Amino acid sequence: MKKKEIKILLAAPRGFCAGVVRAIDIVEKALDKYGTPVYVRHEIVHNKHVVDDLKKKGAVFVEELNEIEDHSRPVIFSAHGVPKSVPEEASSKKMFHIDATCPLVTKVHREAEFHYKNGYYIFLVGHKNHPEVLGTMGQLPKGSIKLIETYEDAQNINEKQISKPVSYVTQTTLSVDDTKDIIDVFKSKFPKIKSPIKEDICYATTNRQEAVKKIAPMCDMFFVVGSENSSNSQRLIEVAKKSGCINSELITFGEKLPIDLIIKSKKIGITSGASAPEQLVQNLINEIKKHCKVIIEEIVLTKESVTFKLPKSLN
Ligand code: SF4
Repeated sequence: MKKKEIKILLAAPRGFCAGVVRAIDIVEKALDKYGTPVYVRHEIVHNKHVVDDLKKKGAVFVEELNEIEDHSRPVIFSAHGVPKSVPEEASSKKMFHIDATCPLVTKVHREAEFHYKNGYYIFLVGHKNHPEVLGTMGQLPKGSIKLIETYEDAQNINEKQISKPVSYVTQTTLSVDDTKDIIDVFKSKFPKIKSPIKEDICYATTNRQEAVKKIAPMCDMFFVVGSENSSNSQRLIEVAKKSGCINSELITFGEKLPIDLIIKSKKIGITSGASAPEQLVQNLINEIKKHCKVIIEEIVLTKESVTFKLPKSLN
């Protein structure tokens, strides 16, 4: 039977950001330099395929340092950043640690510290229990940062109860539009609120969301290749839906592809989260090709050229 022809609009930029490339490089370089095992605290980036690949090469993933018995081996902290207590614990146990925190997350940490030292009341816009949020809150003494998760949280702030000057920082992987709405509430309640000098939502999150906004309205279906626990991938799904493509789904390769819906579509959009390898996007396209004749058009919103240096200990 003749295959139906569909068009795939491939978003660019998509996939790995500079922080993810650096974090994976750090684990690979540490394995080269120090041999196996190299411990990694938490998934180095939120993608099962990346983690499984590094496991095969000799990385051992743990959630807490107390799971590591051999303190002579290196331990790497994930790209999401860690509370200050973690490097302190590693130092007290004389463990050699390497920090793979994305420099753009470290920037948020330093901002929060700056606000604290200057006597500000600090809001952090982010998702409770996400490792990046735990890491940012853990830069300061407990209770120094007020977490704001939603627009409603922001509206419920009682400005009369806050006598200090006010500032905010945000998680790096939030929805640009939802965060703007929250910040508008902050600004209406606290006209003098101190903002980050440069947006905390990072360039990679912003570019991937903008590309989805452009493509999703043209599509009958939209796929985001990523992971359930990847904040930026989840936001891309929300953005695709809000931009008008209700049939938007996360593809983790644990699920069955909705072949019926794919065959009924004329145009399918595809992007990938900042921690998803490009090979997975190509795997998805190859799966679709088994059922349809595919024409691919890449829609390039902008080119990215950001790179981050590796820690000195690995040079
Ligand atoms: S998504 Fe942004 S903040 Fe997170 S690792 Fe990538 S560049 Fe860094």
